[in-house]
Amino acid sequence: MKSGVKLVSTLTNLEYPFERIEEFAENGESLEVHIDGLENARTKSGRYLWERFADFLPFTKIDISISLGEGNTALIKADKKLLDFTGLDNLLLKNETQNPTWSFKDRGSLACIAMAKEMGESVSATISTGNMGSSISAYGAKSGIKIIVFVPEFTPKEKVIAMGIHGATVLKIIAPDYSEMKKQVLSLAKKMNLRIVSGNGPIRTEGYKMTSFEMFEQMEGEVPDYIAIPTSACGHIRGIFKGYNELKRAGIIEKVPKMIVVQALNNSPIVSAIKQGRREVIPFSNFHTVAEAITTGNPMGGDEIIDKAYKYGWLAESVTEEEILESQRRLAESGYFVEPASATSLFAVKKLREQGKIEQSASVVIILTGSGLKDSEVLQYHQLNESFVELKDVEGYLGTHTT
Ligand SMILES: *Cc1c(COP(=O)(O)O)cnc(C)c1O
Repeated sequence: MKSGVKLVSTLTNLEYPFERIEEFAENGESLEVHIDGLENARTKSGRYLWERFADFLPFTKIDISISLGEGNTALIKADKKLLDFTGLDNLLLKNETQNPTWSFKDRGSLACIAMAKEMGESVSATISTGNMGSSISAYGAKSGIKIIVFVPEFTPKEKVIAMGIHGATVLKIIAPDYSEMKKQVLSLAKKMNLRIVSGNGPIRTEGYKMTSFEMFEQMEGEVPDYIAIPTSACGHIRGIFKGYNELKRAGIIEKVPKMIVVQALNNSPIVSAIKQGRREVIPFSNFHTVAEAITTGNPMGGDEIIDKAYKYGWLAESVTEEEILESQRRLAESGYFVEPASATSLFAVKKLREQGKIEQSASVVIILTGSGLKDSEVLQYHQLNESFVELKDVEGYLGTHTT
C-alpha cells in the first residue's frame, strides 16, 4: 500500500485507515481518500490514464489484467440542434455509454477491483438494481474475484441476467423495503469482513476521478465552466469534482468547474434541499420515475453534496417525466441513445440557461451516463416510426413516405 493514504470523513474530518471495510463513517458521513503531499503530485508519461495520474491515486499499482478497457470515451461538441435547444454556444457531451458495460460505473468498478487486489481479497459484494451490479460482475469475471450481488426480489429479469452471465452470485432479497434492505445488508459488511461496495464509497469515487483527468487531457488543460451530472447515490458527482479539485491543489489547473446536480423532480432529495436552502437531504419514498438509474430516495452522504453546492456555488435543477422523455428523444435525434436517467441533464441545462443561471457563452459538459438499450420498457413512451409492409408494397410505400 502507498504510505500516507487514509480515509477522511467529508463533513467533520474523522480519520480512518485506508483499508476500512465499511464505506461510510460511523456517523453516516461519506468518506474520501486523502493522500499526503498531493500538492506535489505531478502528471507523468505512461500508456494508461492511471499511470499518467498515478500520483493522484491511492493504489500502488493497477495491473492491466484487471482492466476491460474502460474510459477513453468521446468528448464531443453538441450539434446545432442541441445548441439551439439549450440556448448554449458551447455544449459538450461526454459519452460514457462507450464504457465496457455501457455506463460510467466501469471506472469505479476498476478502482474497487484494484482495491480488492491490493488488499488480497478474493470476494467483493454490492447492492444494486442495475448498472452497478453488471459492471462489478464483469470486472470480477475479468480479474478472478468472486462477486456477490444483492438485489431486491422485484429486479427485472434482464438486469439479473446481465449480472449472472458474468458468473456473479445474485441474491434476490425478500424484504418489504429497499432502503431498509440496503442498510441491513451494508451493516453485515463488518460482521462478515466482506467489502460491500456502494455507489458512494471512497474507492469507487477514486475511479470516477479519472473522468476528470481524462477530460483535462481531452480539453488540453482547459476546465469547463459547468459539468451537469444526473445524481443518485452521489459517488459520480463527487468523484468528478474531487479529480478537478486535486488537480487544482497540485497547481496544475487554476479553477474548478461548477457542478450541476440534476435529479428527476419525482425523486429530488438533493435538488429540493438546495432549492429550499436546507442543509440536509429531503428523503423521498414511494415515487416513480422513468429515470430508473437515479432512484436513491435518501442517499447516504447526500448532505456532503448539499454542503459542497453552497461552498462552491454549484447549481441544481430537477426535471419532469415529460422533460426527461423529450430529452431522451432529442439526444436520440442527434445520434445518442441514452437511458432516461442520462437524458435528464439536457433539459436541466436548458432550464438553467433560460433562468439566466448559466451564461450563453459558458462551456458546459453534460455526461451521458448510460446506454439506452438498458431500458427497453421506456420505449413505450416514444413514437417509433416502424410499420409492417408486404414485400410487394414496398415500392409504393417508399413512394409515399420518402418525400
Ligand atoms: C449510477 C447511475 C447514475 C447516478 O450516479 P450516482 O453515482 O449514483 O450518483 C446516473 N446515471 C446512470 C446511468 C447510472 O447508472
